[in-house]
Amino acid sequence: MTSTTLKTPATGDYEQPTGLFINGEFVKGVEGKTFEVINPSDESVICSVSEATEKDVDIAVKAARAAFEGEWRKVTPEDRGKYLHKLADLFERDLETLAAIETLDNGKAFSMAKGDVGMCVSTLHYYAGWADKIEGKVIDTNHETFNYVKKEPIGVCGQIIPWNFPLLMWAWKIGPVLATGNTVIIKSAEQTPLSALYAAKLVKEAGFPNGVVNIISGFGKVAGAAISSHMDIDKVAFTGSTVVGRQIMKAAASSNLKKVTLELGGKSPNIVFDDADIDNAISWVNFGIFFNHGQCCCAGSRVYVQEGIYDKFMARFKERASKNVVGDPFGSDTFQGPQVSQVQFDRIMSYIEHGKQSGATVETGGKRKGDKGFFIEPTIFSGVSEDMKIVQEEIFGPVCSVSKFKTAEEVVKAGNSTTYGLAAAVHTSNINTAIEVSNALKAGTVWVNSYNMLHHQLPFGGYKESGIGRELGEAALENYLQTKTVSIRLGNALFG
Ligand code: NAP
Ligand code: MG
Repeated sequence: MTSTTLKTPATGDYEQPTGLFINGEFVKGVEGKTFEVINPSDESVICSVSEATEKDVDIAVKAARAAFEGEWRKVTPEDRGKYLHKLADLFERDLETLAAIETLDNGKAFSMAKGDVGMCVSTLHYYAGWADKIEGKVIDTNHETFNYVKKEPIGVCGQIIPWNFPLLMWAWKIGPVLATGNTVIIKSAEQTPLSALYAAKLVKEAGFPNGVVNIISGFGKVAGAAISSHMDIDKVAFTGSTVVGRQIMKAAASSNLKKVTLELGGKSPNIVFDDADIDNAISWVNFGIFFNHGQCCCAGSRVYVQEGIYDKFMARFKERASKNVVGDPFGSDTFQGPQVSQVQFDRIMSYIEHGKQSGATVETGGKRKGDKGFFIEPTIFSGVSEDMKIVQEEIFGPVCSVSKFKTAEEVVKAGNSTTYGLAAAVHTSNINTAIEVSNALKAGTVWVNSYNMLHHQLPFGGYKESGIGRELGEAALENYLQTKTVSIRLGNALFG
């Protein structure tokens, strides 16, 4: 069996693929292995899906290679764009189903999941538009040569994605890799394989030639490692933890030196100055950390508030956070569902415990919510010092620390004091403060008077240990292109 009938509370019955999508077909893994998919809201088993092993990765690579050297190469840029537009249209048609699958498997609120799928639609259309705009250059060096520089696809690409935005990360990766004419093997995260498999069905319906897109479920240590060390994969793109990012780079280095882009973690500062509009700042700080249950690589997990408004801010932020509705992700007013898995739940709770033991004050939250499902109360710590683990390490849950600061110099220094550099925000009504502080922060994205406002046209990625390369916007195309220089020695027709 490579599919099963499932039911979601929002959309009813649907047909869920459970096989590996290789060379245009859903198949069982060569070794016949499967693993269980868990609903994080009630810890029940949703279904089982096929698990890819090294052999399956190898079969997928062969299919992707054949497609790259064969049929896909002959498809015009305009037609590549048409396939992507078609895929975007199918995502839009099945938006509710895709969002419901995401909520079932990942636990994110259904309203938020619909937002994610809407962003997938925009991202796929956006990259469809780029497919016929990949252009080279003519470079004059002297009258004896004609030089042109062209952009070519890299080849067979491996993409490894996380569980926090299963579909959105899929679209961020699939869009540019296909627009630029590559073929791909994409591995979803073991915690959330279902939406990517449903998307595979849409890839098939969109009519992409077989082997262009291969989608596998499986474990990082097996299928992920097989991708990053494969000798016939030309490029690996990864989103996830910094620890695994390092392993992927090492595997690429010790295999065939495949090209690597990494979108890793963060510990982003969210800075509120005395002159900020306090109501807006509280809304954005709340959204900055608690959106997606804190499971965002760019989460604003270190909040810095200037001393003049600190007390007022803290009192109102606590009140705001404790009102976030935590519960059934299919509930109409739910803001925060469960964390994705038992492992993540335990990890977050151990950070909370560590914070308490190291002397930080729990202003609100700090406990599990309910006794079934992986729900955690929105948690705010104060009384922290910069060297505490909860201030330095990525918790990836609904937990933030709030610190008081006096001057812009002091807060910029603190803001830049971790090994990460993915994002930051500044809340102020002073344009000079906004620009000077944004310029001084070592982060790939800085928001002013907002947070988490990603857009498919704007590049996103990390400074320092938060990554290599940029996703989204025109910048992401570079991840999947290589440059060829052709230099032609001219004859003697005019210049002897
Ligand atoms: P992770 O291990 O980095 O997982 C991300 C992806 O990499 C998954 O598909 C994973 O497979 C795969 N992977 C794991 N080990 C691999 C290996 N040796 N070679 C190749 N691929 C491998 O993240 P996690 O364990 O799920 O979460 C741990 C922490 O990572 C979080 O608490 C958070 O701090 C951070 N994180 C960051 C992001 C982000 O967006 N930047 C996203 C997720 C997590 P599996 O399915 O087997 O894990
Ligand atoms: Mg799950």
